[in-house]
Amino acid sequence: MSLVASVDEAPGILPAGVNPGHDLADRIYVAGRWQTGTGALIESVDPSNGRVFATLHGATVDDVDTAVREGLNAATTSGWATMLPHERALVLHRIGAAIDENRDRIAALQTLDTGKTLAETRALAGSAANTFRYMAAALETMDEALTTPRGPWMTFSTHSAMGVIGAITPWNSPIASDAQKIAPALAAGNAVVSKPPVWAPWVTLLLARLCEDAGLPKGLLSVLPGPGRTVGEALVRHPEVAKVSFTGGTSTGRHLAHVAAEKLMPITLELGGKSPTIVFDDADVEKALQGVLYGIFSSSGQSCIAGSRIFVQRNIFEQFTSDLIARAGRLRLGPGTGPTTDVAPMIARAHRDSVAAMVDAAVAEGAQVLCGGAVPTDPALSGGHYYPPTVLAGVDNAATICQEEVFGPVAVILPFDDEADVIAQANDTVFGLACGIWTEDYRRAMRIGEAIDAGTVWVNTYKQFSISTPFTGLRESGLGTEKGRDAIRQYSDQKSFYLDRSDTPMSWGCPR
Ligand code: NAD
Repeated sequence: MSLVASVDEAPGILPAGVNPGHDLADRIYVAGRWQTGTGALIESVDPSNGRVFATLHGATVDDVDTAVREGLNAATTSGWATMLPHERALVLHRIGAAIDENRDRIAALQTLDTGKTLAETRALAGSAANTFRYMAAALETMDEALTTPRGPWMTFSTHSAMGVIGAITPWNSPIASDAQKIAPALAAGNAVVSKPPVWAPWVTLLLARLCEDAGLPKGLLSVLPGPGRTVGEALVRHPEVAKVSFTGGTSTGRHLAHVAAEKLMPITLELGGKSPTIVFDDADVEKALQGVLYGIFSSSGQSCIAGSRIFVQRNIFEQFTSDLIARAGRLRLGPGTGPTTDVAPMIARAHRDSVAAMVDAAVAEGAQVLCGGAVPTDPALSGGHYYPPTVLAGVDNAATICQEEVFGPVAVILPFDDEADVIAQANDTVFGLACGIWTEDYRRAMRIGEAIDAGTVWVNTYKQFSISTPFTGLRESGLGTEKGRDAIRQYSDQKSFYLDRSDTPMSWGCPR
């Protein structure tokens, strides 16, 4: 046990009966074995006070090799790869139920590790449970279809497991992004090797424990925390890894796409964003204000789909901006465990400092700070990684702060004149992840939504998700799709059959 400071020292901050400290044994999960790692030492820091609360010895490159080889073996020897879909689905249902039963425990642990509010980490745990249940239901009800024959045959395709899937995730929404990859990959009959982030490894290890308790055959899942450049890279390069699903930054994703290309291995990439949220003068202002605030400042802006460029029609720009600033100023900073907290601390001091440096650089480039813009001086917040909700103005969309992802609670507000103007500005970015449109005119919303390059468009709402709706990043925001019924197919090999039905020898040549 490597628990450094018991969370019991802070009574009353966690839901009754929940002590995430119980989950912090110094063990990684290699092919069904809980063992002390021999890789880099990970010091986990509570973002609300900057204190190290646990240490963990991470995985090594050798562990990757063991996990992949034994995972491949386990998929065959346990019968998982060829098990009937409804039998695999039963295990996935049990994992979903186990996540639900442990929701408070997962939320408390994730809040301790990432700093997020308990409301958010409870929602993420709920989303992970839903994902396992949805993939179970999809698996049981997925049909293989006959294709229309173009000759004297019966033609159809079957789908089978690919082998071992690498799942690499970032620190901002651990259990939800884990589930998004692990559930469909297991559903398709594969083994999975997960590489969680150094800044937030614990909840993925807890998920492995719940999978094991729910009856997932040993060896099918490994969880190998460790540095991306060694452990993550070894996973992507491993010759027996059939596919990788990666969520993280665009530059890492671009590098991994090169590595995958060398192996001719499929890779799904969910990457960064700089999403526009657009307010027209006919919008329901109350809804728009609330949605725009939530879109950028929830999760302290540490969200790939954060609405970080706010475009407001010029004739309401001044009033909307002043109302937005007033509300942003009322958002309460505090620990993720605080019942009144709106904006929780950021994951790490280094990350908070990089956000502060980007704001300083924007000011040097001419931006005006309308609210926030500096590390808080309140002594009650001094130990934590806090940064206040910040709104900048006075620059155009070409400014660095409008082009680069901040991944923090920082938005730029910009005016626009008409539909053509806002479409041009919104699309003037390398990213294409999401977009928000606030208008009462749904014909206009459809026109704008279709014209903007974004994988997800929200109209009169923002940052809402359902596992049944596919998620795609366009342009430099990604490659491939996650979620939705077809998610299981993304982790399957497809094979097509031609069964001859004629009584005569085949002729020379191919019917078309
Ligand atoms: P990151 O790219 O630094 O790391 C992501 C993961 O990749 C981590 O587990 C890391 O250890 C690993 N990694 C790093 N280098 C690697 C390498 N060479 N080989 C293999 N693995 C490697 O990103 P981050 O800072 O953890 O996360 C923030 C980024 O993630 C932001 O850009 C954000 O927009 C993006 N993100 C995207 C989505 C989405 O769905 N599009 C969701 C959440 C976060």
